[in-house]
Amino acid sequence: MADSYLVDPDVGFIEEVSRLGGADVKKCYQCATCSVACPISPDTKPFPRKEMIATSWGLKDKLIGNGDVWLCHNCGDCSTLCPRGAKPGDVLAAVRAATVIEYATPKALAKMVSDPKKLPILLAIPAVIFIVLGLLLKMVGVDWLNFAPSGDHLWQADYIANYLVDIIMIPTFTFAIVVFALGLKRFITEMHANALAEGKTEKETIDPAGFVQALIKTIPTILQHRKFTECSENRERSTAHMMVLFGFIGLFIVTGCFFAAEWVFHIEGPYQQINPIKWLGNLGGIALVIGGILLLKNRLAKKDQISSYWDWYLVGMVLGLGATGLLTEMFRLGGLYGLSAIIYFLHLILVWSLFAYTPFSKLAHIAYRTAAMAYQEYSGRK
Ligand code: SF4
Ligand code: SF4
Repeated sequence: MADSYLVDPDVGFIEEVSRLGGADVKKCYQCATCSVACPISPDTKPFPRKEMIATSWGLKDKLIGNGDVWLCHNCGDCSTLCPRGAKPGDVLAAVRAATVIEYATPKALAKMVSDPKKLPILLAIPAVIFIVLGLLLKMVGVDWLNFAPSGDHLWQADYIANYLVDIIMIPTFTFAIVVFALGLKRFITEMHANALAEGKTEKETIDPAGFVQALIKTIPTILQHRKFTECSENRERSTAHMMVLFGFIGLFIVTGCFFAAEWVFHIEGPYQQINPIKWLGNLGGIALVIGGILLLKNRLAKKDQISSYWDWYLVGMVLGLGATGLLTEMFRLGGLYGLSAIIYFLHLILVWSLFAYTPFSKLAHIAYRTAAMAYQEYSGRK
């Protein structure tokens, strides 16, 4: 006898998914072309057809904590072939956005990050923090964030400011890690419960050591973008995505090295242009800008695919971070110190925003998709 299931539709969830770019879900008539077309869907319990019906019925509990939603890389193959124009790839992207909001703490901040009207407030928060820092430093005679400097003050002399910037960034970064940890704990637990209920795995419990092993096995697949290259419709997006990913990895390494140089070895900047870590920083910045431009170009060219605010936020963040980082350095080297200081101020706002808002934005897929792919490996589902 077939399993019975008490349907408890959540209309608010359907509205939320529609708001986040999945409004076309209503057009689906369950032909299953999308599940057949998807190049990376598993043979058993394939996606995205089952997620389409769950979304149109508002079955939130079948979608939040569903690992399959995250295995989708939004290549768009299924959307192109869907005879009804229901855009299953975009619907899954919207469900992912709703999942990030659901697992985020505090939820009010997650709602703000997904709302374009709240962007000025979100950017004003770090702006105020750094303006107050600048004013406090001025009171103790440190000439920091002076937008009309007579020389290279900002980077040459005021080490105290660099330490204070770090002291602002460290708790912000820690906050992001804690939000991710809480969200991932719930996500992995619910993903496993869902997989058990749907017969996707036979493992009763999650063995942490086995899960970590699966995670390590998954990392080369992620770095090489193997899943992206299995798609045909949006294959070129893999180049852009790869540049952005490696750009961020490079800049993360650079930040870690300079942090250790300052705090552990007390080697103060500015660092020489011939320093290899500086090269890596410049390459990371260039990769972000080129990757961001390619993402922008791809999204503008794909008129038949939905690009929601969720997507534009990520593109804007990538381009903004890369461009302000590179321009700060270029203006400084060109002797345009005032302009450089203004751009640096914008750069600090974006870096703080990156740390604080990543667990609530599309960038959170770094953690959630990685966890879902590791879980797929762990559960032995092919
Ligand atoms: S989303 Fe499109 S292809 Fe998939 S089941 Fe619905 S109508 Fe068919
Ligand atoms: S967008 Fe691509 S990966 Fe996602 S379900 Fe459709 S075909 Fe599969």
